[in-house]
Amino acid sequence: MWTGDPCIIAVSEFKATTDAVEESVVNRIAAGEVIQRPVSAVKELVENSLDASSTSISVLVKDGGLKLIQVSDDGHGIRYEDLPILCERHTTSKLSKYEDLQSIKSMGFRGEALASMTYVGHVTVTTITRGQLHGYRVSYRDGVMENEPKACAAVKGTQIVIENLFYNMIARRKTLQNSADDYTKIVDLLSRFAIHHIDVSFSCRKHGAARADVHSVATPSRLNAIRSVYGLLVAQNLIKIEASDNDPSSSVFEMDGFISNSNYVAKKTTMVLFINDRLVECTALKRALEVVYVATLPKASKPFIYMSITLPPEHVDVNVHPTKRE
Ligand code: ADP
Ligand code: MG
Repeated sequence: MWTGDPCIIAVSEFKATTDAVEESVVNRIAAGEVIQRPVSAVKELVENSLDASSTSISVLVKDGGLKLIQVSDDGHGIRYEDLPILCERHTTSKLSKYEDLQSIKSMGFRGEALASMTYVGHVTVTTITRGQLHGYRVSYRDGVMENEPKACAAVKGTQIVIENLFYNMIARRKTLQNSADDYTKIVDLLSRFAIHHIDVSFSCRKHGAARADVHSVATPSRLNAIRSVYGLLVAQNLIKIEASDNDPSSSVFEMDGFISNSNYVAKKTTMVLFINDRLVECTALKRALEVVYVATLPKASKPFIYMSITLPPEHVDVNVHPTKRE
């Protein structure tokens, strides 16, 4: 006699599988917000390399980043013990005490970037820490290790490879494949990092190309860095700018940078803005500067601007934007 029980079991089993599917879909959608395009993955990886005190960072890109993104640095590396949890969400080594939570806000340490990448691509990490005889290599998928870390030969630092980005987001992959590829955006990104972090050497190369498209060497002079990355025509037409205020009742900030003079004529504005050493965009500030240029230098109305602003961390909330960009 049929009691109805098996049916109930079947329904609950069905429910269990849909829940599982939904969880991975939810994770993938969330990850797709953090990593919107190949260039967003490169930005996160390079920021991690900078946070690891690297002095040399090289980026290799294949098929606009959809086939391969490889970021290699000579930073402090990742400890063997940390590898199993490296790509879990909200895992960060950048906070050691509760008070550091404020710096989460200011620097955007959310421990989300690497985890996100594993939900939308295949991530392999090779790393060696100081004083070790060999390194380790391990691959991740959906936030977890695919295998135990394997001992391997390694040079100082960390190399992170992402393959087949958005392999499981067909629509996103198609859109990206049809638009101009992200390589130009990645070169632009590395150029920006290179003129701010002048004590670090950067390189960016397309897979198969003999020469790098960005190749900067560490230099004590910002102007030298700008010349080597953006060319002589930019560098010879710049004016140094500086401003600061230290009145806690109104504002506390420091700003320094370079802006182009009346001889600099370009088709579009280049604005490289760092706030508290993080590369960001600020459309309002960019527009305001353009308005001033149009009014005073109509022939040179599209300026080149490099600006670095330091603010008290409590005035900055990097995490309002999913990619920490604005
Ligand atoms: P967050 O940068 O917000 O801490 P991520 O997901 O970007 O989070 O990185 C997670 C952790 O992985 C970092 O806190 C850091 O400990 C480690 N890590 C990632 N990339 C590197 C690297 N290139 N060198 C050393 N450690 C790294
Ligand atoms: Mg990070």
